[in-house]
Amino acid sequence: MASDAVFVTKSSMPSYEEYVEAIRPLWDSHWLTNMGCYHEQLESELKKYLNVPEISLMVNGHMALELAIQAFGFPEGSQIITTPFTFISTTHAIVRNRLEPVFCDVKPTDGTIDETKIEKLITEKTVAILPVHVYGHVCNIEGIQKIADQHKLKVIYDAAHCFGVNYRGCGIGSYGDVSIFSFHATKVFHTIEGGAVTFSNLALRDKLYNLKNFGIQDEETVAEVGANAKMNEFCAIMGLCNLRRIETVISERRKRFEYYRELLKGVEGIEIFEGIENTGDNGSNYAYFPILVKNSYPLSRDGLYDKLREKGIYTRKYFYPLTADQVCFHDRYTKLDLVCARALSAQVLTLPIYEDLEMQTVERIADVIMRK
Ligand SMILES: *Cc1c(COP(=O)(O)O)cnc(C)c1O
Repeated sequence: MASDAVFVTKSSMPSYEEYVEAIRPLWDSHWLTNMGCYHEQLESELKKYLNVPEISLMVNGHMALELAIQAFGFPEGSQIITTPFTFISTTHAIVRNRLEPVFCDVKPTDGTIDETKIEKLITEKTVAILPVHVYGHVCNIEGIQKIADQHKLKVIYDAAHCFGVNYRGCGIGSYGDVSIFSFHATKVFHTIEGGAVTFSNLALRDKLYNLKNFGIQDEETVAEVGANAKMNEFCAIMGLCNLRRIETVISERRKRFEYYRELLKGVEGIEIFEGIENTGDNGSNYAYFPILVKNSYPLSRDGLYDKLREKGIYTRKYFYPLTADQVCFHDRYTKLDLVCARALSAQVLTLPIYEDLEMQTVERIADVIMRK
């Protein structure tokens, strides 16, 4: 591996001194986890920043989703309509709850669930819709909510890519019945590992609090079969430090994003998602820079991936294969009609983007793509 290797992402961090200073009080309190004061402080700061009515922090985004689904108590074997064009966590969270994922195709324009194809997938076993704001592209929230209301379904958003995005004056996490966020080290905002559920129904507050703490209700009562999904104080403090820098992180990403777009615009066979119908009020959080490698490009998607790799540039095929086509599901879903999702999945490549990615590196990557 070349020493000047460029990876698809690089975690943002506060200065060493800032973090060490911030964790010092833990050596006095010895309160390291179990909803300590930093956990509480991060919940309250994130609630404000994300512009959401309620929030519950979790150990990671995956457990946030698993427990958000569990909180509704759907009968075993119920169906959830979802997208296969996502990180495997979205599908696993459904299956691990002993529910059945029903895969809906996505829109070629932005990769989010195609709301016009949801209704014909509804059966008497359907209980919820689980869309993903993939790459920070906002789903058709109004269209999805209308279907959910008509059929009395819950809407659970995987908003892992949408940190800080506002939509029509509210935080993106205010829509649907619940939304989940991931604060993994590779995301725009992180707590090393971490995540959250956001919601407005107050009844969910205690429910999620108990579920993330083994279902323990009080000292002698375990009311349900919960998990351990608590965020510890070291992670909460990393979050507090990172939150102070979030505006810089996003605006630096934006510069790289726009430079890529300028350089790659008009390159034969390379498409970038543009003219997306639903964007956040403040645009995007610039979490990813996906490109589509079309048939008119001289190399295949995999060919371009290999060529960049030879030059020490490690891109990712996010999201290939579709979750529905993964080995763990054997061939259960491979015959489904997921034409647009499979096409996107075969063409997509996400390019390196992070706060301090050198502008010259952006140029170098664009040059390889333009075959200079
Ligand atoms: C990152 C991610 C998750 C999982 O979050 P973790 O914090 O890594 O557990 C879930 N869904 C999507 C779309 C993601 O990108």
